[in-house]
Amino acid sequence: RYALGPKISDWDGQRRRWLRQNPGFPATVAGGKPRILLVTGSQPGPCDNPLGDHYLLKTTKNKIDYCRLHGIEIVHNLAHLDTELAGYWAKLPLLRRLMLSHPEVEWIWWMDSDALFTDMAFELPLERYEGRNLIIHGYQDLLFEKHSWIALNTGSFLFRNCQWSLDLLDAWAPMGPKGFIRDEAGKILTANLKGRPAFEADDQSALIYLLLSQKEKWMDNVFIENSFYLHGFWAGLVDKYEEMMENHHPGLGDERWPFVTHFVGCKPCGSYGDYPVERCLKSMERAFNFADNQVLRLYGFAHKGLESPKIKRVRNQTTKPIDEKENLDVKAKISTTS
Ligand code: UDP
Ligand code: MN
Repeated sequence: RYALGPKISDWDGQRRRWLRQNPGFPATVAGGKPRILLVTGSQPGPCDNPLGDHYLLKTTKNKIDYCRLHGIEIVHNLAHLDTELAGYWAKLPLLRRLMLSHPEVEWIWWMDSDALFTDMAFELPLERYEGRNLIIHGYQDLLFEKHSWIALNTGSFLFRNCQWSLDLLDAWAPMGPKGFIRDEAGKILTANLKGRPAFEADDQSALIYLLLSQKEKWMDNVFIENSFYLHGFWAGLVDKYEEMMENHHPGLGDERWPFVTHFVGCKPCGSYGDYPVERCLKSMERAFNFADNQVLRLYGFAHKGLESPKIKRVRNQTTKPIDEKENLDVKAKISTTS
């Protein structure tokens, strides 16, 4: 049976001891909020289509902006830590490695390269997740009644840095090794999950299958979130941004102003996606500019339109920028409409 690494069984104790011995690296940040590390990554080599690399840069800039505004640390990984778990499985060994190397981090947050923050003011309601160690977007009924292969989405989820999470990663990984194992596991997943096409085992289906088959073991500590878009499917969102700007404001995070817009099924970097590449790129451009407007506005600018990389000035310059509170209280500033 494949393993991510040597079995660790007392991580909670090890971590607690480390935190006690290193008071300079607390598991909280300013304001007493838990320390969060956002992790994303992309393939080690260039995209087949050079435009793909340009959009990878934009999606990375978008994440840097969100993290900077909210005091979250960020890692972008380009390496395959374990060649057996290349591709979408690469996040598993990476998350384990980062949890162990950063005991000061309380929450580790995976976000796909093809997911963008589209609500720059929204913050995770972490206080809601006491006793929960995996926070993931999805629907309880799709999972336990329909056994749907899209009941959960592994494009954006959080793990608490604890023994339970290491155990879950260990239980999740065995379907991942490339080749025979991944191919055979894919058949089991397709046979058991509703709507799943025939293909090799993917990390999302494997997690759904694990939670379905070992519900009692894991579900007490899993929070299935759908009160806001921790993951939001792009196709239903990108054409409504203008309407949202008309009627709502950042900070809501749900269908009124989606926290995350995720380009599931688009593969602008390589291989074949489920949608035409032009539609994907145009939609990504819209999502990026919709989000970027919320950042630019802090500095008095906005895009000329959601499909334009060009910007215009939206506020007059003053000689007393501090008195005008130009740069203060970022969160309130992003979410007010004026
Ligand atoms: N990924 C990675 N290294 C790779 C390939 C993928 O870190 O070599 C990450 C990347 O962030 C990507 C995610 O894994 O968005 C999911 O993989 P993929 O894009 O194939 O699936 P999708 O995002 O379409 O569900
Ligand atoms: Mn994705």
